[in-house]
Amino acid sequence: MSLKAGKKTKEWLKAKRQLIAQLEDHGITSCEIRRDRCLKSWALTLAHARKRRFLHEGELKVVVVACSQCHNEIEAMPHEEMHRIVMDAIKRRKKQPVEIPESAWNHP
Ligand SMILES: [Zn+2]
Repeated sequence: MSLKAGKKTKEWLKAKRQLIAQLEDHGITSCEIRRDRCLKSWALTLAHARKRRFLHEGELKVVVVACSQCHNEIEAMPHEEMHRIVMDAIKRRKKQPVEIPESAWNHP
């Protein structure tokens, strides 16, 4: 087994850098999930609507900014619930930093 990052991981790390810049350009600099115990603009991460291994083609960039608290809470939920919460946060945006493919709206 190799300790080097696999192809998928490398692809994600590259996409992640671009995404952070695109999100910032659109003024998205705090948590978009906003659950009760939200940390707002502290300990930010990017959250997908699906577990990464279940992402469909073209969905790598379908993410929201999430504080680590909200991210942990949604990760512990059933997949369908996590998907709904992330896609609801995406819907609340006035303008999308990246194109959201049609497939991203449906679960599974
Ligand atoms: Zn939060």
